[in-house]
Order: sequence, then structure tokens, then C-alpha cells
Amino acid sequence: MAVKQTKRIFELAADAATHFRLRAPSLPAHPLQSYEEAKSAFEGPLPEKGENAEAVIAELAAKAERGLMMATGPRFFGWVIGSSHPVGVAADWLTSAWGQNTGNHHAAPAAAAAETAAAQWLLELFNLPQESSVGFATGATVANFTCLAAARGEVLRAVGWDADAKGLFGASPITVLIGDDAHATVFSALQFLGLGHDRVVRVATNSQGTIEVSAFAGAIAAVNGPCIVILQAGQINTGGFDDFEKLVPLAKAKGAWVHVDGAFGLWARVPQTTRSLASGIELADSWATDGHKWLQTPYDCGYAIVRNELAHRRAMTIAASYLPTAAEGERDPTHYVPELSRRARGFATWSIIKTLGRRGIVEMIERHCRVARSMAETLAKEPGVTILNNVVLNQVIVRFGTDAEAERGDQLTRDTIARIQQDGVCFAGGAMWRGRQIMRISVIGGETSDEDGRISAEAMIAAWRKIRDDAH
Ligand SMILES: *Cc1c(COP(=O)(O)O)cnc(C)c1O
Repeated sequence: MAVKQTKRIFELAADAATHFRLRAPSLPAHPLQSYEEAKSAFEGPLPEKGENAEAVIAELAAKAERGLMMATGPRFFGWVIGSSHPVGVAADWLTSAWGQNTGNHHAAPAAAAAETAAAQWLLELFNLPQESSVGFATGATVANFTCLAAARGEVLRAVGWDADAKGLFGASPITVLIGDDAHATVFSALQFLGLGHDRVVRVATNSQGTIEVSAFAGAIAAVNGPCIVILQAGQINTGGFDDFEKLVPLAKAKGAWVHVDGAFGLWARVPQTTRSLASGIELADSWATDGHKWLQTPYDCGYAIVRNELAHRRAMTIAASYLPTAAEGERDPTHYVPELSRRARGFATWSIIKTLGRRGIVEMIERHCRVARSMAETLAKEPGVTILNNVVLNQVIVRFGTDAEAERGDQLTRDTIARIQQDGVCFAGGAMWRGRQIMRISVIGGETSDEDGRISAEAMIAAWRKIRDDAH
């Protein structure tokens, strides 16, 4: 492609992106198009003849825009979804433009180096054991998978079995203890690892979705042989934390590997004001978290952190004669994740941490927690609105309608969510919690301010009043 055309398409993309991002705060929080509509915009016969690149990029921008969720806007509370910080986006553009295959440090020295530096910063931010290794994965799903692969290898190695070489056939069975309200993707990770999503001991949880210590004590007492314990920092609905200080020592006394899914909750380690929620988490063996949630990196980015680097590397080893090997102290990014060829995720992580600094990250997390608390307080004052969780972090569970009318409350809650989405001031979604329809609020967008929280809580109340009055 001619130099001039390359320049033009890069500029076109930058202009379209700028235009989109600047308008995001004032656009409806929901997509303007359904999936079906978006599909018919994109579908067409396979092009036989290539088209002009500029026209293609312009067409892409025009077609996609109507089907975009405003997750980058300040009043998006739909899921635990970050907002792609502009500096991360800029770093990611460079990442794509540079086209670095980040498998090893010979093929991509700068990419491997940025990961090394960013990994060190992450360990410091989370105050986790400094000897831990960090893999840059696609997200917490794969980070959980990676950490649990290391766990599987080590608990079997301890009984003299090399699972990485021999697989699970003939191995001692591994007992997996997991909280009843763990994230669905952790069960998928267990499925991928041959540990089975059903073949686990589900430990009872309390009203906040966190593990009952007494139930756990009973379950771990019954364990004999290799064991993996999976705990959670930040339950997807309540934001609740397992009691690491009590649970980890119980697990360790049995020789279990303790893994923590902290996709967003691990970030509570950064501000002093939320740190105590996760105290004792540093006693675990591995931790999975996301960059694309609370750190606001563009998609996709997650981190697999393992205390025992050797266990981490053994589980992810790819050996081939044409691949150079890393010497002591050199990082080959592929040693810590399942993929060989992949994106250089260290650049965006490095840039965002450098731009925000520890203080900027603290400010953002504290602001989100404050907005969540104040939205919950405002909503709780409205007759017929109930907050179902202790708002310890950034998550709020809302229920519309009084408890006496349980079935009807489900319908009223669904209708209110639909109304809120349709009004478009903000976006929140639904879920089932303890057998009931709820609305979830996740405060995690980088730009979300106290004022956005206030406007959104008001819009939610206005929507609820309309539904309530229509129902009468
Ligand atoms: C989001 C989330 C995951 C999955 O993370 P992805 O980044 O979507 O792969 C796992 N666990 C928890 C608690 C989460 O919030």
C-alpha cells in the first residue's frame, strides 16, 4: 500500500475514533441498532474484487457506529466493563501498527520488555509476592485457566505425577473446592482443564455470595490428597469478598493450592480505603485479574499471576526446536499464557499505569465505590426500591416492587430495566439473584463522575415511577 494511502487510512481511523469518543457522553447509552439490523448492514456477497481501503474504513465506521454499546460513555453500568482509556487506545493503535508478534523476546524485544516492566508495577500495585510471574492474557477467563493449569500441575507433582506430560489419565483425583457463587467462567476454565465444571465441591455461600467459613471448614476437613481451592475477590453481583484471612490458612493446612478470581476485585488492593476487603489475599498461590475492567485498558487484556514461577512456566510450556529459548532473567511472554503468537498487551498496560499513576488509579477506584454507594442510598430512599447487597465495592443489586409481591416484583424489575434502557440516560442490565429478577449496577467506567451517578439514579427512579404508575 502506498505511503500516502497508509497515512490517509490511519488519519481516517483516528478522526472517526475521535468523533465517536467525543460524542459518547451525549449519545443514548444503548446501541441505536439491534444485532439483526447490524448484521444486515454488514452482510453481503464475498467481495471478488478488492475495494479502496479508505472507502472500506469509512464504511466500517459508519456501519459499526449504530450498533455500538456506549460502554465508553460515563453512564454505562450494564456489566463489569471498562471504558478503554484513551491513552490505552493510542498505545493499542501503535501496538497494531508495530505488528509485534509477542511470543518471545527475540521476535519482539520491546514488547517483552514492556510486559516485564508492567508486570512489576502490577505486583507492586496489588502488593502481591514480588517473586510472582505475570502472564498477559486475553482476560480473566484465560487468566483463571492459566493459573488453574499451574495449580493442576503442582498439586499432582506433589504426589509424583507429571500432569503436563502425562495428562490426567491415571492421576490421583484432584478435589476442587469452589464457592457456590463463583463466576461462570471459572467453571469453564475447570472444564477446559479436564477437571470438570460439575465435578467440584461447591461450598455454601451467604447472602453476599461469599463463602461460609464454617461450610468451608467442613468441606476442607474431608479432603484427602491433591486439592485446589478457588476463592473470589469481587462477586459479580454483590462485589463481595471471600474471607481470605480465615479460608487460606485452612486450605494451606491441607496442602491445597489456593487460587483467587479477582477479575475486578483484586483492584481493591490498590486504595488504602478498600484494601482491607482483600486482606490475606496475598497468602494465596495464584490470582487472576483483568486489565480491561478496572484499569480501563482496551479489550482484550487480563493478567495471570502465579507465586511459583516455575509452576506457571511448566503449565504453559511450548517447546519447538525453531523457537529460541529465554536465558535466566529474560522474558518470553508465551511462557506465561497459552498462546504463542499474540498481541503485545504490555504496551497499553504500561501506558495507562504511567498516565494514571498509583494516585490516579486510587482516585478512580474510590470514585467508583463512592458513586455506587451514593446511587444505592438515593435509590433506597424511593418507596418500592430495595438494595439487596451490602455495597462494599462498586456493585449494587436493585429490586423494584415490594417483597410481598415476589412474582410481580420480577416483572416490575424487568419492566423498569427495559424502561431505563429505552430512556437512554444510562444503561443497566438485569440478572437473576437468589431466584429473583434483579437489576445490576456496576460502576466501573473510567469517566463516571459523582454527577453521572446522581443523574443516573434520578433517571432510574423516574423510570421506576412510570412503571409503577402504569401498573396501577
Ligand atoms: C469478568 C469476570 C470474569 C471473566 O473475565 P473476562 O475478562 O470476561 O474473561 C471472571 N470472573 C469475574 C469475577 C469477573 O467479573
